[in-house]
Amino acid sequence: ANVIAADFVKSSVRPDDCPRDGLPEFALVGRSNVGKSSLLNSLVRRKRLALTSKKPGKTQCINHFKVNDSWYLVDLPGYGYAAAPQEARTNWDEFTRNYFLGRENLVSVFLLVDASIPAKKIDLDYASWLGQNKCKIQKSSQTSNYVGINLVPETPLKTSSNVPMTLVFTKCDKRKKKKNGGKRPEENVENFQSLIREYFEAAPPWIMTSSVTNQGRDEILLHMSQLRNY
Ligand code: GDP
Repeated sequence: ANVIAADFVKSSVRPDDCPRDGLPEFALVGRSNVGKSSLLNSLVRRKRLALTSKKPGKTQCINHFKVNDSWYLVDLPGYGYAAAPQEARTNWDEFTRNYFLGRENLVSVFLLVDASIPAKKIDLDYASWLGQNKCKIQKSSQTSNYVGINLVPETPLKTSSNVPMTLVFTKCDKRKKKKNGGKRPEENVENFQSLIREYFEAAPPWIMTSSVTNQGRDEILLHMSQLRNY
């Protein structure tokens, strides 16, 4: 699962502006500061393909990166930036929700969650929205495949209108700190998993990552290549 070439293609301010070549794409979404740009850069092994130093909440664009000329990584605007004005937040909601609901070549949604802090309501709310609207995961004999680390489904949990969701836990290299509630990343992940089960009949697949150590990078790319081949 080696990324050979990745190029920034375009920033779109509306779902209608997104590339129309129909290539399969994977959306990365998560709270501002979750480590999305860092993960993107780590996936394509570039220091600054995605800018990490942008002002949180400022980029209200959908950014398309074409990989190996054959599929897209899509960087969606981060949500939950507290200082963003209400109007901007409402726009963000409509914008990304329309993207999720209307994008036909969307293969899968990767929801990024910061493993270095305790579960946040905004992430659970977002997962819940995805679960109800786009990423319904159905109970099946596959369920047991979803309990554990780095597991990849053998068959897609996909219906005509739904795409599978994968949870990507970020910053797993960060050790516990008192101010973070004193929990290890593993404990935060476990807790998030049990909270999210409320919204899904089966737990989504999940991958623990770090952009510092590149933990999880190969698993994400392998998972994406398997999803593309379904
Ligand atoms: P974005 O707003 O989601 O795009 O987040 P960034 O990629 O800009 O990262 C936000 C902050 O978290 C930056 O200070 C990064 O250096 C830091 N960060 C991102 N990923 C990791 C990681 O895997 N481990 C650690 N320790 N810090 C990270």
